[in-house]
Amino acid sequence: MSFDQLGAELQARRDQSLYRQRRILQSPQAPEVIVDGKPCLAFCSNDYLGLANHPDVIQALKQGADRYGVGGGASHLVNGHSQAHNALEEELAEFTGRPRALLFSTGYMANIGAINGLLNKQDAVFQDRVNHASLLDAGLLSGARFQRFLHNDADNLNTRLERTEARRKLVVCDGVFSMDGDLADLPAISPTAARHNAWVMVDDAHGFGCIGQGGRGTVDHFGLGADDVQILVGTLGKAFGTSGAFVAGSEELIETLIQYARTYIYTTSMSPAIAEATRASLKLVQAEEWRRDKLQQLINRFRSGCDQLGLNLMDSPTPIQPILVGEAEKAMQISAALEAKGIFIGAIRPPTVPQGAARLRVTLSADHSEAQVDQLLAALEEVAL
Ligand SMILES: *Cc1c(COP(=O)(O)O)cnc(C)c1O
Repeated sequence: MSFDQLGAELQARRDQSLYRQRRILQSPQAPEVIVDGKPCLAFCSNDYLGLANHPDVIQALKQGADRYGVGGGASHLVNGHSQAHNALEEELAEFTGRPRALLFSTGYMANIGAINGLLNKQDAVFQDRVNHASLLDAGLLSGARFQRFLHNDADNLNTRLERTEARRKLVVCDGVFSMDGDLADLPAISPTAARHNAWVMVDDAHGFGCIGQGGRGTVDHFGLGADDVQILVGTLGKAFGTSGAFVAGSEELIETLIQYARTYIYTTSMSPAIAEATRASLKLVQAEEWRRDKLQQLINRFRSGCDQLGLNLMDSPTPIQPILVGEAEKAMQISAALEAKGIFIGAIRPPTVPQGAARLRVTLSADHSEAQVDQLLAALEEVAL
């Protein structure tokens, strides 16, 4: 059997400007990076608070490795659950105001584990149609009746909830939508779910660290709590600057996931040194309010600059500031033109976003300067969108 067919499919993907290629990052994550040997100014990482390369976090990683070694060495349920993991779980529980938190090795695995640990084919899952791929995959894998509701539309959700007789009902959404940057309408979604006795799960990968009191995320931002959103997921590879993820919630929820979440059970624990690094970044997230203030200033500056340029920005209050372009080909051209000017922004294309909704996903970090945002605006003006 030959691979000719794969070759033809790859060529078709190239022809549609949908081909993905990896770039080689040769520096730490920062506003100024070296990519494929060239220095450039980057606006595409999710390191929103600039903690991925923070000296305290690096130091904690080194000390963690000295104390616990590098590898987790086993799964959590055998003997890979180190004191470092346990301490981080306790601190994340306190941070989120929930009784318990459970660490996973990635956000993708946390979502697969949480949904599949709770639901099976007797149940129903309701997802915002632009939810992150890991949530959609988790819902499909669970075998539960799978429904997508219109983006941020609690009425549409309500209609769907009215028609179900499933054993368990779970409503799932991103806290901050990863490709649009807008917030979930939790003040409408949570009561709608409650009226139908459905649980709410929020994946706040892009909210933690960036919004809410002390960076406590989207649920906190809306003044909601554990009664409104029973299952809270956070990832550690974005604003926290490390890697991994957690689910926070009640004692019963966490114990259930320890028993049944296969992506928790059948995998090696994350490096304990990473857990130690994350404990240091969690301290910075909570203590350094100036990072969120600075980010907000940069967001305001970027948005008003784009407004003056007449650019088609999406309605986002977060560091995710996508510029809608339309066709994938055009997004690739603009991204290449910006790169020629030393500016690196990811072009996001289908199937990550809907057909005809390709975009430049600009992301800002507290480590960017106002001058760098101005440099971006000047380059955007020159590439004539
Ligand atoms: C990035 C992301 C994930 C995946 O998290 P990883 O730790 O990178 O696997 C899950 N959900 C959302 C909304 C994300 O943006």
